[in-house]
Amino acid sequence: MLDAEFFRRWLLLSADLIDRDAAHLTELDSAIGDADHGSNLQRGFTAVRTALEQESPATPGAVLMLAGRRLISTVGGASGPLYGTLLRRTGKELGESTEVSPGELGEALRAGVAAVAQLGGAKAGDKTMLDSLEPAVAALDDSSASFGAAREAAAKGTLATVPLVARKGRASYLGERSAGHEDPGAASSALIIAALADTSEA
Ligand code: ADP
Ligand code: MG
Ligand code: MG
Repeated sequence: MLDAEFFRRWLLLSADLIDRDAAHLTELDSAIGDADHGSNLQRGFTAVRTALEQESPATPGAVLMLAGRRLISTVGGASGPLYGTLLRRTGKELGESTEVSPGELGEALRAGVAAVAQLGGAKAGDKTMLDSLEPAVAALDDSSASFGAAREAAAKGTLATVPLVARKGRASYLGERSAGHEDPGAASSALIIAALADTSEA
């Protein structure tokens, strides 16, 4: 079973991985966007880290909802409301339970990813974070071993964005010229899913 402390560790590790890869994420965004994805997420996850140091939400749902609110209030770009929605919706799905099973988390994440698709009007194949998130949540079943499968699916989905033409977000302004580059949001989603798998294995 996964408790509030597990979710706290997942988000803190996500913040660490984003710090580590911030320059790379910004470089990806400089090719097909406005060169701010790494700094946007670094600002957002630094605020999440601070919030989790100052407050100790008692349930998994409350941890995710706190983090989601911080992302929405600190990240200016498109990714802030999208990741904020992912975490808030997933947290809401988990309700008031003090512990949740891997299967319950998988179900909640599927609802969170569906909310991202609805907010952004994007679907798999549009060269966005959904190309990483959708295969990741599809790989989740009721075992914690599936977090490792989700990490692999997200990494594969991220690489698969390279040949795609962007149909949503700033990269879509480039039209055909967006092909040949990895989507920055798919890459950051793969980090967050990798942090989940790493936390479950620690
Ligand atoms: P901005 O483009 O506003 O500068 P970021 O650079 O932080 O914001 O985030 C860009 C990423 O957000 C893209 O690489 C893409 O994965 C994701 N994204 C942008 N628009 C959408 C959308 N409508 N639906 C899903 N993801 C999107
Ligand atoms: Mg950007
Ligand atoms: Mg921007």
